[in-house]
This record gives sequence, structure tokens and C-alpha cells, in this order.
Amino acid sequence: MIVLVLNCGSSSLKYQLLDMDTETVLARGLVERIGLEGTRIKYARETDGSNYESEIPAKSHREAIETVLEILTREDIGVLYDLTEIDAIGHRIVNAGEHYSDSVIIDDEVLHTLEGLTDLAPLHNPAAVSGIKACRELMPEKPMTAVFDTAFHQTMPAESYIYSIPYEYYEKYGIRKYGFHGTSHKYVAQRAATILGRPLDDLKLITCHLGNGASITAIRNGRVFETTMGFTPLAGLAMGTRCGNIDPSIIFYIAEKEGRSLSEIEEILNTKSGILGISGISSDFRDVEKAAEEGNERAGLAIKVYSHRVRAYIGSFIALMNGVDAIVFTAGVGENDAKMRSIICRNLDNLGVNLDEVKNLIHTKAAIISEDYSRVKVLYVPTNEELMIARDTVELLHGDDGLPLEWKPV
Ligand code: ADP
Repeated sequence: MIVLVLNCGSSSLKYQLLDMDTETVLARGLVERIGLEGTRIKYARETDGSNYESEIPAKSHREAIETVLEILTREDIGVLYDLTEIDAIGHRIVNAGEHYSDSVIIDDEVLHTLEGLTDLAPLHNPAAVSGIKACRELMPEKPMTAVFDTAFHQTMPAESYIYSIPYEYYEKYGIRKYGFHGTSHKYVAQRAATILGRPLDDLKLITCHLGNGASITAIRNGRVFETTMGFTPLAGLAMGTRCGNIDPSIIFYIAEKEGRSLSEIEEILNTKSGILGISGISSDFRDVEKAAEEGNERAGLAIKVYSHRVRAYIGSFIALMNGVDAIVFTAGVGENDAKMRSIICRNLDNLGVNLDEVKNLIHTKAAIISEDYSRVKVLYVPTNEELMIARDTVELLHGDDGLPLEWKPV
């Protein structure tokens, strides 16, 4: 079964074409600056490692998807003879509110529901909806699924997701913690369970998705117990450019002191804060760590603030779950930054965490990197949200008997 996975951002489109019979990627890429000057497509054919990049005139997600489909079937660099080879399309959706706790096949009702969820993710959800509509027009006969970042977190108990503000705001506007990166947390939790050789239902895990955006999730018996992101992906950890949790009064204080509007402050907290904001250097951990090594104090401080907060959440999640079997690191920083993993795990031996500093430096695909005697195992597991989306798509389009469901084109 060939599955096209689409991830529509506000001005970008990430795509991957997977052969799910072998779970291999055939092609992947990115369209950036959709609707802006200098729209570009990047494309990599995984079958032979060839790459292609070009400027394109895509003014909308529809035009971007059309270009992707054209490239996938191009005689010189494509991987398909024609589009009939694509069996299904899986769409990543950022926020489904409380509507979906699992992935779904997209029908008119689902599309209608998603159109009504714009408020919850104003940058991402409309882009995803336009991607779905474009696919319906361009490939009406193909079944499509929606896989939600928030779905896994719907297993969270109310004491974790209710904010301590008047309850009527939850009732009226759905203001609550939703949590994000759910597809990634679920994927690495499942992989970790396999590596540990234990059922996920028996484990207490803390999964640390540390990328440009970052979140940590406590998973108890296969269900989310607590997570760091909140009503939006701005909450929790300090991130590349996002502030994470701060005292809400700061917003009003800056507004008054600097005469800024609320939307200007929102922009500052989303794009000029975090590691970039503290260091004044970059949102990329590689740049900040290099500067810190060269003696830049604010860069050093940014790293300390970052790791301090990761450790604080790990500690609190261990308390909430009354223990933990394994801590799992994933995403750009979590997978690649051995130094950061080492800083985070330092002096946690009292909690049963003993990182093996040698194993921590060795890069294999996914591994246990704690000492053999460590009561709490530490792992790093490369995340693969696209594979998870494609797996959900395959699963949804097959009945309990494993045979393909009958699909009626929309
Ligand atoms: P996202 O998907 O949220 O954009 P990623 O998970 O791809 O982000 O993570 C990107 C970030 O990972 C980069 O901004 C960089 O800070 C960090 N990163 C990637 N490789 C390394 C590395 N070798 N060492 C330290 N940080 C790294």
C-alpha cells in the first residue's frame, strides 16, 4: 500500500511518500514560503538518494500539492508511473480539540468539524483543511485520513488538563490543556516498549520530544498522564524561539512598559523568546552550544535555563506517576545532542537514573543509553511522525479482518 503523508503548515507543506508493505520512504520533501515571494520545493528520492530543488510559483497549498504530485510522477526524478499508484493520503492535523481521540477517515462530517476548529490552531488548522480540500479535488477517488497531534493526549485525566481559571471558560471556549506532538510521543513510547521488551500497558514512561518546539509527556500504562504543552504549543519548556511557561502577568507588564499590543507580545513570545531570546544568538542549539563553549555567558545561561526546566518537569512527572521505568529522548536535540542529554540526566541518580556516558555518545538507530544497573532506563529513539501517520492510515483503511474496507469516493 502506497501512502502519501501531508503536513500542511501555515506557509509550508512537508510530504512523504511511503511504501507501507515494507515501511520504506520512497520520496520526501518540503515546499516552503507558500503564497510568499520565493516559494521553493525540495524533493529527495530516497530510492537512489537523488535530490532536486527549485523555485515554484505556488500561491496556495493546492498549487503546492499539485507540484508535489507532478514531481512524484515525473519521468526523470519521480518514483511513480502515475497517481493511481497512491492508495491513500494521511493528513497531519495540529489540533482537533476534544473532538477526536484517535485518527479518523475523512468524510464530509470530519471535514466540517475541522473547518470549525480554526480558532484552536489559527495558523495550522486552516492550512490543513485547504490541503484536504485540494487533495479531494485533485484525487477525489483516494481515501484520506486525519491524524491529530492532540489525539493521544485526549487520554489525559481532567486534573491534568483543567486550568485553574473560571471553569466556564472551559465550558464556553474549550480552554484546557490539549498537548501537542502526540503522534511523536506515541510513536517513541511504542518503540521504547519494544526495545525494553515490555508491553506499553505495563510501563511508566517520560518521553522528551526536544526539537525546535519541545514537549515532555508522562505516559502511564499507555495513556498520557501529563504533558508540558497546553492550550497551545507555546506552553511548558523553553524552546528554540518559544517562551514556554512564564508568569502570565509578564504579558500585561510588557504591554504597559513598551506600549505593545497583545498580538505583538504574542509574536514576541512565539518567535523571539526561548533559547534565541535568552542567548540573543540563535534558536539552533548547535549555534548556542558553540557560543557557550567559546565563553558567551548568555549562551551558557540559555542552556542552563533550558536543561533546568527539562529536569524540573522530569522530576515532577516522576512524582506524579510515583516512579518511572524509562526516560526517552527524541527529536532534533533529543536524538542528536549527547551533551544536552548528559546535562539533563546529571545528578538524577537519587531518582534511579544513571546515564552511561559512553553509550550516550554512540549513535545507532535507537538504543538504551543508561548503565546496565540503572533502575530507570534512558533511551534515545528517533521519532517518525510520518510513519506513524501512514501506519494509522493503513490500519484505518483495513477492517478488523485486515482486509481493505470498501471506500466510496467523495
Ligand atoms: P522541529 O521539527 O520542531 O522543527 P527538529 O526536531 O527537527 O525540529 O529539531 C530541530 C532542532 O534540533 C534544531 O533547531 C537544532 O537546534 C537541534 N539540533 C539538530 N541537530 C543537533 C545537534 N547535532 N546538536 C544539537 N542540536 C541539534
